[in-house]
Amino acid sequence: AKSGGRGTFRFFEPEMDEQLQARRVLEVDLRKALVNGEFELFYQPQVDIRKKVITGYEALLRWRHPERGIVSPGEFIPIAEDIGLISPLGEWVIQEACQEAAKWPASMKVAVNLSPVQFRNKNLVQCVKNALTASNLCPSRLEVEITESVLLQDNDATLATLHQLRKLGVRIAMDDFGTGYSSLSYLRSFPFDKIKIDQSFVQGLSSRADCLAIVQSIAGLGANLGMSTVAEGVETEDQLIQLRAAGCTEVQGYYFGRPKPARELVHTLDMFEPT
Ligand code: C2E
Ligand code: CA
Ligand code: CA
Ligand code: CA
Repeated sequence: AKSGGRGTFRFFEPEMDEQLQARRVLEVDLRKALVNGEFELFYQPQVDIRKKVITGYEALLRWRHPERGIVSPGEFIPIAEDIGLISPLGEWVIQEACQEAAKWPASMKVAVNLSPVQFRNKNLVQCVKNALTASNLCPSRLEVEITESVLLQDNDATLATLHQLRKLGVRIAMDDFGTGYSSLSYLRSFPFDKIKIDQSFVQGLSSRADCLAIVQSIAGLGANLGMSTVAEGVETEDQLIQLRAAGCTEVQGYYFGRPKPARELVHTLDMFEPT
């Protein structure tokens, strides 16, 4: 900082306090939210790009805060990770998603996001097992989405957990592919079932030639490795056409549907219905 004396620091102090205070309030609220039943899962369809049918849904967590309304996971997940709440919360997510998916047509899967912190919990596999038993959902209809950051930490333990999940029959997807550090080496470390191409590449399709080249390469890579490739964040028909030509197997995004509460799901796509 510049030579600014104490006055400079004083100027920033109240603001820092406010931020900290807001965070503390959110922490307190968050600890109560699980028991108070304030969490809800929204579901966003994933679509087979050729057959034009819904193959399943990604479960996305929402917090209905009594005063603030819906808080996005980008805001509260990092806090939940910090204060040790992500494991019980993540367990609730897995149970809830399995219960819900058991009501859907048998062809449809449910994908659940797992935080790296959940992998440090020894009970993760047992918790998945319990949720499958309680819901009677066929294990192959449950998919877990992990990001590269999961594989960055204690690699042996993480890989062992992934193999145990796979042994249960659960499918494993790599989320946000291409945004990390060494995506390719992670593909070699575990045989994922699915690669999710990060939405930043999809959103760049119309304006940037490199995005098209990257999406084509990932789709080709997936095909060669026997993994399906899902393009995320698809918002326009134009993107859909390019993604199909690039060889992606599935698509997900606002174009096909926003994340919705379970009771609003209809399991068909209006836009592809013959007119
Ligand atoms: P993500 O797993 O990469 O999820 C995709 C995000 O993109 C979601 O944001 C989704 O609503 C949004 N999205 C979907 N289609 C479109 C589109 O066409 N355009 C745009 N601009 N966005 C689209 P959301 O629901 O706010 O979730 C943000 C992140 O929070 C997720 O990123 C995931 O990392 C995390 N998250 C959500 N639910 C859970 C959960 O149950 N557990 C954990 N650990 N993390 C979660
Ligand atoms: Ca995800
Ligand atoms: Ca993603
Ligand atoms: Ca993401």
